[in-house]
Amino acid sequence: MGRHRRWRRVDFLPPVSYFKPAGVRLAHLEEVRLRIEEAEALRLKDLEGLEQDECARKMSVSRTTFARILLSARRKAADALLNGKAIRIEGGNYEMAVRHFRCEQGHEWEVPFEVMVKEPPRLCPTCHTPRIMALWPWTPGRGMGCRGQHLGGGHNRQENPRQE
Ligand SMILES: [Zn+2]
Repeated sequence: MGRHRRWRRVDFLPPVSYFKPAGVRLAHLEEVRLRIEEAEALRLKDLEGLEQDECARKMSVSRTTFARILLSARRKAADALLNGKAIRIEGGNYEMAVRHFRCEQGHEWEVPFEVMVKEPPRLCPTCHTPRIMALWPWTPGRGMGCRGQHLGGGHNRQENPRQE
């Protein structure tokens, strides 16, 4: 896979990933797909009220890129609200700000985003076993099985760390 991906830093995953308008039958429902980094852009700019510069820095993207992500996010949210569509929040090119890892011996450690996108860990720093797995930041000890439907494309990197 020669596809080059640009990773956006995300501090937060929405607790609910699907919104559906009341009174519309599923068969007739159109769906808008909001990417995780788009949800993060809405959160930083519209919920936290940060300046665009700061939002861009937090997500590790240029100002122009942030503006584009935000515009796309707002357009999708407006489309869903005004046209009665469902919103599914998933996928995208993102990495969590801090990722927890655990090895088969039970050692746990953290890898910051900046390191993660350059060089995902291959060995436990304590016992040097390559048998390691990624954990969600807020569920240490539960392993990869609990990652839910937030996954999408952003995490292929985790599952196939060696692919080019
Ligand atoms: Zn270890």
